[in-house]
Amino acid sequence: MFEKILIANRGEIALRVLRACRELGIRTVAVHSVADTEAKYVKLADESVCIGPAASALSYLNVPAIISAAEVTDAEAIHPGYGFLSENADFAERVEQSGFAFIGPRAETIRLMGDKVSAKDAMKAAGVPCVPGSDGALPEDPKEIVKIARTVGYPVIIKAAGGGGGRGMRVVHTEAALLNAVATTRAEAQAAFGNPVVYMEKFLEHPRHVEIQVLADEHGNAVYLGERDCSMQRRHQKVIEEAPAPGIDRKAIAKVGERCAEACRKIGYRGAGTFEFLFENGEFYFIEMNTRVQVEHPVTELITGIDIVQAQIRIAANEKLWFNQKDITFRGHSIECRINAEDPFKFTPCPGKITNWHTPGGPGIRVDSHVYNGYTIPPHYDSMIGKLIAYGDTREQAIRRMRIALSEMVVEGIKTNVPLHQELMLDARFIEGGTSIHYLEHKLADRNEVKKS
Ligand code: ADP
Repeated sequence: MFEKILIANRGEIALRVLRACRELGIRTVAVHSVADTEAKYVKLADESVCIGPAASALSYLNVPAIISAAEVTDAEAIHPGYGFLSENADFAERVEQSGFAFIGPRAETIRLMGDKVSAKDAMKAAGVPCVPGSDGALPEDPKEIVKIARTVGYPVIIKAAGGGGGRGMRVVHTEAALLNAVATTRAEAQAAFGNPVVYMEKFLEHPRHVEIQVLADEHGNAVYLGERDCSMQRRHQKVIEEAPAPGIDRKAIAKVGERCAEACRKIGYRGAGTFEFLFENGEFYFIEMNTRVQVEHPVTELITGIDIVQAQIRIAANEKLWFNQKDITFRGHSIECRINAEDPFKFTPCPGKITNWHTPGGPGIRVDSHVYNGYTIPPHYDSMIGKLIAYGDTREQAIRRMRIALSEMVVEGIKTNVPLHQELMLDARFIEGGTSIHYLEHKLADRNEVKKS
């Protein structure tokens, strides 16, 4: 096992990784920008190194500064968390070339999955169900493009191979709009991602977002840890996640989960990963793979009892998976609310000083947050300040516990989206379960209409 790990991230995930390390008896190095000097995990870490000014480009994305922090502190491995450099293949490569273990997949795997056309090809070859569409990149010939769209059937969506974060996509409803949309998406993709390659998919109108968590080791073993439903989204950002996904046949989950595990074995995947699917009319359609730990990993931890971050570390240390698929059991239901420092109605970020902070507790409640009473949220980063996670024997119990937890939560000095979560925990459609990825946007639009009238 490693003796010392450098955590190349900030916020709640830096604290989450730190806790995993402490439990494993591993010493930690926190790297931080000048804006995060007062962060809780910086104080709790065995060592800390300031790697640059507040701007992420100069600190959390500053590869040479992170590598030299690992060198001067004699760390053996680097955990990238999520966001920042976590899916940057060049970073993973530099880390390994500099003699450190990268806690994540090999650089070439990140590269393969980072290009959506090559990712989809690899998944298709491994038998993972994909959204019907163009076979790889769209050709130049306009006649060919029109032909492909006719075969796929309108509406279609044009997506950039290098896209990410919900950018570089365009929905097309009619043949008249097709070629223009392809040209515009190509130009935007070139400008934003330096890669003009685009591909086409059938546009699914009312899908749910259901994703499969996997773990794979260096010895050819891979398992799936069930699914998460992350359909409650605003602007492609997940707001609430839960496990298991309400109302989906367990046999269907086992089937797609097994496909994902098999794909991991085929591509030589290493570490934790997530296969994201759109789920419509009882079918799964792969859209992309995330080659890192995800914000919503705790809901899976609560229903499986498996510590995903510790698993990442043990796999990076070359350990063999210490359980197999039939040892994994799913028990109860878990829901996560992302707590953001933002206006609950207008969604504008609301950084600043927290003058009063009380977190809930009691049976089945977990709070993952790095903030504390008197902490000042810097304006430079993501607005998520923590995650409230509830567990219950049933979904109903998890929802009830979440309602109580939200009512106990006190955050003063800044605005948060706690009122939105309270509203959603009482929402009839949410309680029923199985809403599509468009539900929240529609609900928010209706809410604005009511306000105006
Ligand atoms: P990104 O990497 O930018 O997140 P994804 O491929 O994961 O891109 O797609 C982001 C979101 O766009 C999905 O969660 C879904 O809401 C929507 N989307 C993508 N592909 C389709 C599709 N074929 N049909 C309907 N919606 C889609």
